[in-house]
Amino acid sequence: MGRANAAYYAGHDPFADFTTAPEISQAFGEILGAWAVVVWQSMGRPQPFILAEAGPGRGTLMADALRLATRLAPDFAAALTLHLVETSPRLRALQAAAIGPHLRSAAPRWHDSVEALPDGPLILLANEFLDALPIRQFVRGGTGWSERHVGPGGFELLACDAPLLPADRLDPVPEGGVIELCEPALALVGGLCRRLSRQGGAALLLDYGPGVAGHGDTLQALRGGAPADPLQAPGEADLTAHVDFPALRTVAGDAKAHGPVPQGRFLTALGLFARIERLVRAQPPGQGGALVEAAHRLVDPSRMGSLFKAIAFCHPALPVPPGFEEVSS
Ligand code: SAH
Repeated sequence: MGRANAAYYAGHDPFADFTTAPEISQAFGEILGAWAVVVWQSMGRPQPFILAEAGPGRGTLMADALRLATRLAPDFAAALTLHLVETSPRLRALQAAAIGPHLRSAAPRWHDSVEALPDGPLILLANEFLDALPIRQFVRGGTGWSERHVGPGGFELLACDAPLLPADRLDPVPEGGVIELCEPALALVGGLCRRLSRQGGAALLLDYGPGVAGHGDTLQALRGGAPADPLQAPGEADLTAHVDFPALRTVAGDAKAHGPVPQGRFLTALGLFARIERLVRAQPPGQGGALVEAAHRLVDPSRMGSLFKAIAFCHPALPVPPGFEEVSS
């Protein structure tokens, strides 16, 4: 899945195959921009600081975030240095074109990985980034575990040791059941949390997956907007899997984890509909229906409001970030 997905993002416009929240409504990126401003203020307004996005796609989220943040807090816009984590040269070019006009500070810098970001206080945003990272799938047999590999004739099972997951995750998996492990996501979030707890800052990650620990096969391929066979035409379809939020919380270390909260609740708490109302008022009469419909697509539980979730990781001294007040203990 790792290599197939790198080839896919390098050679394709992923947005022909699926639509993401920032592409559905400009209010999504705007709300994340306002979130970043409030968090920056709670950090003591460091100048300079690193504003980063992992997997910025077409650059829409960051363009919307910067446009709003610049109006809301010019001091935030002047203090930031923008860093983008993106491996695809084609998408880097799209991001430069989309974001450039909204940037008050120096040109963005691109990196191949989150670990390559420079030192300093950090605010990192990412939407649908972790779900693109490769997973491993393990199947419980009668006497032990096997790992699913891609062989010449399709999936094949090779006997292996028990996966490196806590017993309370492995015990409920029945014979024939599948459990997934996304080591790159755990390593990425673990490393991110270590730097946040040493150098200050916060990360907000939005993605889709269950909020409680579970198991099952969630590997999905999307091609041209429709489900496809994950093994057909590697590099031609977008491969994703559910993000294991409970597992991410276990690698937070000294950083504080908040959430996950359902995306619908998160966006609504942060004023999505007030923002949409303002956007509708700026339209000619009777033209705002599509804006309201787009917002409902993001928050309705039967659409993207419930399966999609927000999780945040913060320096331990920071207050609970906006949108997570109700869930933090
Ligand atoms: N956040 C965007 C795009 C989501 S698609 C949106 O919401 O619209 C996933 C993004 O992550 C793409 O930009 C893709 O090129 C990038 N990406 C995927 N795997 C990556 C990796 N291992 N390292 C860096 N970027 C990656």
